[in-house]
Formats: sequence, structure tokens, C-alpha cells
Amino acid sequence: MELKIEEKVFIVTGGAKGIGEAITLELVKENAIPVIVGRSADAANRLAEQIKADGGQALVIVAELGEDGVCKDVIDQTIAAFGRIDGVVNNAGANDGVGLVDGSSSAFKNSLMKNLTHYYDLVHYAVPHLKETKGSIINVSSKIALTGQGGTSGYAACKGAQLALTREWAVELAPFGIRVNAIVPAEVMTPLYEKWLNTFEDPASKIKEITSKIPFEQRMTTPEEIAGMTVFLLSGRSSHTTGQWLFADGGYVHLDRAIT
Ligand code: NAP
Repeated sequence: MELKIEEKVFIVTGGAKGIGEAITLELVKENAIPVIVGRSADAANRLAEQIKADGGQALVIVAELGEDGVCKDVIDQTIAAFGRIDGVVNNAGANDGVGLVDGSSSAFKNSLMKNLTHYYDLVHYAVPHLKETKGSIINVSSKIALTGQGGTSGYAACKGAQLALTREWAVELAPFGIRVNAIVPAEVMTPLYEKWLNTFEDPASKIKEITSKIPFEQRMTTPEEIAGMTVFLLSGRSSHTTGQWLFADGGYVHLDRAIT
């Protein structure tokens, strides 16, 4: 299947590591142009150099997306460099463990800034350009939006809101031919996940315990499996799919636990 996204420009937040990196590389495989946005300058620059050395194109924008004014600047820089935006992948985020009992109001609000408000801001400023290309938007959410975890109110609020916004924006942007979908991962081995795993005394037995409960093949989802779904949804090959939550999770959220 040809995705026909050559030379098209896609902004990927958190595009230098984990799921975002896999999406960036999948876009490059299709000869599209990723704009890698995130706060990890070294990782982003290394990745962009590798892409350019292999004959591809990429732009790096180093930014903490939780800061005011950053998202407009990302859009302005992208337009200055390429003159178009064909899609936005809202992906940057981290489970920051701001709980209800042990957290605080200010920590909760900070979590919203780091994990949610930039999803809105980036798309808000991108819309005029997405109207011109009939672009596509992907919000990377999390199973926590639907299953709960405990001890992480901020992150859960953000991930739930991302799913609501996916449907809300799908309606508001449909008249312009802009599609909006969400991807819902559950357990994906990434630098963020590894960091969390290493907080346990015995990470090896913890990962065994986790994967034993994943219905399909009792294994982690790979970042590439999320990336494949994302790039398909960005492309015109999914041209009548909008307002959907796609679960690339080995059945974690929907299949009966009795089978694991
Ligand atoms: P990751 O390995 O930490 O990669 C995320 C990248 O985004 C990192 O480079 C990180 O920078 C950057 N980033 C995060 N918040 C940012 C912000 N506010 N401003 C700028 N850059 C920011 O994480 P991942 O596991 O690939 O997660 C990607 C997305 O998938 C997140 O939205 C996460 O909630 C979601 N998700 C992941 C899993 C999983 O199992 N991995 C499950 C469900 C949902 P630093 O390196 O500086 O932190």
C-alpha cells in the first residue's frame, strides 16, 4: 500500500524518543518530512542528523511545550521552513504521578500544562494551515483515560481530555476536511517506560508480571506498532476515518482478563 505522503510535513511532539521517535522514523521511511519538537535537544539533533545523512529532511525545534507562547512559535517556524503543515501528532507527555491525596493543586495545574494545554495550543495555531492541506491530527492518549490507575490525577485528567478533544475537534474541523483521531497505547517499551520500570527493586520480574496480563501474545506493544497505526491515520489511506480512538494495545483495555 502506498501512503502517498512524500514531501508532506508533519509535526511530531516528543518526536525524538520512544513512540515519537518511531513515528518520526516511519514518516521518513515514507519520504515525508518530520518536524521534531521536544525538550531533548541532544536526542532530537542526533536523530535529525541521522535522517539527513540518509538523504531525508527534518526540522528540529527544541522547546518545553508546557511554556507559554511555544506552540505558536512551533507553527511559525514550521511554516517559515516548509510553507505548509499536513498533520500534527500530539504525543509529548509523561506520567508525573500527581495524586489526589498526596498531590497539590499547583502540581495538578502544572501537570495540565505539561501534558494537555499544548495539545490544544498546537492544533489551535495549526488549523489555518491544516485547512489548506486538509490535514490530519493524531492525539496520543493512554489507557489510563479509561481504566484508572490511582495516584496520578493530573496525567489521567490530561489523557481523558485528549480523547474528549479528539471527538470535539473531529466535529469542529470536519467542514474543513480535517480529520482527528486518537491512538490509545497501554504498555509500550520506551525510555519513559524503562525509567519507570527501573524504580522497582526487581524490574525483570515486574515486566514479566505486566506482560503476563497483556492478552495478545503476552508482550509489550512496540513503538513501531504505534507508529504504523499513526502514519496510516495521517495518510489519505484513512480518508474516511475521523473521531476514532484506536487501541494499539494487544487487547489490554477491551479483552476479558479471564483469558490472561
Ligand atoms: P518518552 O520515551 O519519554 O518520549 C517522549 C518524549 O517527549 C521525550 O523526548 C520527552 O522529553 C518529550 N516530552 C514530554 N513532555 C514534554 C513537554 N511537556 N515538552 C517537550 N517535550 C516533552 O515517552 P513515550 O513513552 O514515548 O510516550 C509518548 C506518549 O505516549 C506520551 O503522551 C505518553 O503519555 C503516551 N503513552 C505511553 C505509554 C507507554 O507505555 N510508553 C502508554 C500510554 C501512553 P524528555 O526526554 O526530556 O523527558
